[in-house]
Amino acid sequence: MTVGNMESATLFDAGKKGRGLKAAKELVPGEVIFAEPSFSAVVFDNFATKVCHSCFRQQANLHRCAQCKFAHYCDRTCQTACWDEHKQECGAIRKMGNAPAENIRLAARVLWRIHKNAGIMSDSQLISVDQLEDHVADLSEEARTQLNADVQTFLQFWSHGRKKHDPEYISHIFGIIKCNGFTMSDQRAVRVGLFPNLCLVNHDCWPNCTVILNHGTQTALSSTLHSQRRIELRALEKIPEGAELTVSYVDFLSLSSDRQKKLREHFHFDCTCEHCAQHIKDDVMMASSDSKPSADKVKEVTAFSKECLEKIEAARLQGDFPEVVKICRECLEKQENVLADTHLYRLHVLSVAGEVLSFLQNFGEAAGYAEKMVEGYKRLYHPNNALLGMAIMRAGVTHWHAGKIEVGHGLICKAYGILMVTHGPNHAITRDLESMRTQTELELKMFLQDESAYHSMREAALKKKPLAPISAGGGNVKDVSRKK
Ligand SMILES: [Zn+2]
Ligand SMILES: [Zn+2]
Ligand SMILES: [Zn+2]
Repeated sequence: MTVGNMESATLFDAGKKGRGLKAAKELVPGEVIFAEPSFSAVVFDNFATKVCHSCFRQQANLHRCAQCKFAHYCDRTCQTACWDEHKQECGAIRKMGNAPAENIRLAARVLWRIHKNAGIMSDSQLISVDQLEDHVADLSEEARTQLNADVQTFLQFWSHGRKKHDPEYISHIFGIIKCNGFTMSDQRAVRVGLFPNLCLVNHDCWPNCTVILNHGTQTALSSTLHSQRRIELRALEKIPEGAELTVSYVDFLSLSSDRQKKLREHFHFDCTCEHCAQHIKDDVMMASSDSKPSADKVKEVTAFSKECLEKIEAARLQGDFPEVVKICRECLEKQENVLADTHLYRLHVLSVAGEVLSFLQNFGEAAGYAEKMVEGYKRLYHPNNALLGMAIMRAGVTHWHAGKIEVGHGLICKAYGILMVTHGPNHAITRDLESMRTQTELELKMFLQDESAYHSMREAALKKKPLAPISAGGGNVKDVSRKK
């Protein structure tokens, strides 16, 4: 096995879970354990003409590759920076007459790269790509048939002069991508990538690390910055030397049995983490309110909530936001004094209500829901969970927009503290949050000195420049998530 150098983590045999990484020294919250550029990445089919294939930024006027007419770039700089990765792909696309689907393109890029540098990109890479797990043996019959079709398409597409591969090895590569590929999105899904070291970090529903995509600076178009598009594994808490490093592949806000089901379906393992084994917090996520409603009442409201959530989803898909708000209000009223504020159904409705009302610029009502939701989240999530930090940030902005500057500033400060750990001081979101913190601090000072002057200043400012609506697009806040 190829083992590279890394200061903060070492490879070890994690028993039934296979390989794993453990802390080589004591780690502090927010510490970057490693940063890693993606081994290979491609733009999703849907974004092929909208996103630069080199820097992955969304641009209006992209220039296409004159040869294959498939790849699109910002400009020459981007094209040149990417040519090494694109050159064989370009030839293959021309030979085939069109570009195959994203998973075929990614498999080919992975393989070209393996040939070029034996699956190792740097001496801090702990394992070569083709040594990763593939789980091909665990696939359902249906998935097997799909895999075989993909392998056939791949073999037509693949051109590497003398180097031929048998279908079995190609299946292995597809399997690796399926269970180790990370989808990276920056509010919009754009590419899938493979990060060999990250693949070694095992799952735990209550992890001690988090993974984040860090772009470095976004402003310059220089090719030297492309290498800064990388993931970082960051410690969420103090981790003692020798402890296993873990990340979560799923959101914690589900009952343990639901998380286990998802993990089994997508990643082919049975989660035996402490939180699943002992069903930790399942009771809180299902709790009824302190006023002790009858079992029948709880049952009735739970069923009603479930129905409402389906209706809300349908109305949201149709873009009928007033209808969404109507159902949310009705549902929240029924839940009052029956379901606890930590009940998953209640949290779900609070989250949608806050988001959609903000979008409709009804910040006052939205702020109330957002605050309740954050209180529930705080009792369920790890205190440094990135999703908790993002939810607190949105709640803070909503309060600020509603003119509730004291609470707003407090929430923004709280979110900043979490994001300093999960995203670090140089991440674009943390920087945005920092400028919001400064701004709200200023406004808070003004408010505390002279309340009425603050309100008239605010009204004048709003007349000049109305607040931009907060997106109601479903709020994909995960920077990096395992491919589903
Ligand atoms: Zn570009
Ligand atoms: Zn081309
Ligand atoms: Zn678990």
